[in-house]
Amino acid sequence: MGENFAFFLPVMMASFGVLFAGVWRLRVRSAGYWSGAFFSVAGGFAIPAAFAALPSTIWGFVADLLFGTGFLLFSQALLERWHPSWLLRERFAILGLSMLLCAIAVALDNLPLELVASDFGCFLLIGLPLIAGRKHLRHWPDRTLFGAVTLVALDNLVRGSTVPLTLSSNDFQNSAYAFLMQALACVFGLFLALTALAANMLDLLARYRHEALHDPLSGLLNRRGFDEAIATQVRKPLPDGSLIVCDIDHFKTINDEYGHALGDRVIVALAGILAKATPPGAVTARFGGEEFVLFLPDTNAARAAGIANDIRETLAQDVAGKFGLARPLTASFGLSTVQRTDSAIHDAIARADAALYEAKARGRNRVCVRRALSSPSASGIEPVAAHLSNRA
Ligand code: GH3
Ligand code: MG
Ligand code: MG
Repeated sequence: MGENFAFFLPVMMASFGVLFAGVWRLRVRSAGYWSGAFFSVAGGFAIPAAFAALPSTIWGFVADLLFGTGFLLFSQALLERWHPSWLLRERFAILGLSMLLCAIAVALDNLPLELVASDFGCFLLIGLPLIAGRKHLRHWPDRTLFGAVTLVALDNLVRGSTVPLTLSSNDFQNSAYAFLMQALACVFGLFLALTALAANMLDLLARYRHEALHDPLSGLLNRRGFDEAIATQVRKPLPDGSLIVCDIDHFKTINDEYGHALGDRVIVALAGILAKATPPGAVTARFGGEEFVLFLPDTNAARAAGIANDIRETLAQDVAGKFGLARPLTASFGLSTVQRTDSAIHDAIARADAALYEAKARGRNRVCVRRALSSPSASGIEPVAAHLSNRA
């Protein structure tokens, strides 16, 4: 049986090393540590088979070093998730101490001491992340990973504590210790690898999902993210509330006169103002270019117009000075409320858009409201705070 493990374990561990290396190439940092850890442990299991001709004391120590390094990398991979680089120096010290004891044991030809030193070192290295991880068990991948790590830690602890019972002679290869080590490594190692892989893949999916739903420049939701946030946050078929559409005035000239990079910084600055000015529960998105859409749930037109006007004033007062622009920097706002007859929130956005065009036509730097359902006539559009439009 031991013979079979001798080939199966290194191949299994190295396969996970390759798999995690593939995940690491997708920019999942911790997968690099997982990959290194599994390759290292694969090396530890392969050493006896590969160097059978060498004296066992030498390959034994090299295997100890590979297992220790592998477990340091396991701890790094886990802490990357739960508490990045926590107790890094202390973990290196544990590895160093464990290897020193292993070297002394090899020099004294004391195999039990070597195994105890190696097992306790591995136990401490993989056990420490459990202390940091216990506060981060909100999601099932973390809970499952925590369970798998606990099993591996206990395996090392129990095995290290029972060496006198499982190692009757200095013959490691044929000992009960070696059999237990390999059998349990198969089961717990597989469980650890699969749970870590699942956690890594779910992290990756979450990142892709975040990227699909957010605008990278402003950090706000994009159009798809806005639709999804409305669908998930507001459970009713059609939510109550107000819609604001905001567009920077003469933004093209900012780009033309000061460059695209400064234009980008203006967009980021406006996104910051929007995030600060909106109440909790508001859904704020950049729909494209210099156009932003805000949904304010359970907010009537008067309250929403007040919020839009605050944003308008903050932008006009702060941003041009902040970036040293020679001309005023303003934005126009269109506002509408969700109507019972709307079939989708986009009906309200279309009305807010019409109000925005009206604000532009009336001279920009103002808030206009459109409540009427379909009439494009000016009677349905109410200029709000137009008197402030000449201040900036
Ligand atoms: P108006 O007052 O009528 O809104 O005029 P405007 O110049 O703001 O509008 P227009 O649609 O003519 O120009 C919008 C400009 O926004 C053109 C485009 O180059 C610029 N733009 C779109 N996306 C970005 C971006 O991500 N970064 C920067 N810097 N500029 C962008
Ligand atoms: Mg514009
Ligand atoms: Mg525009």
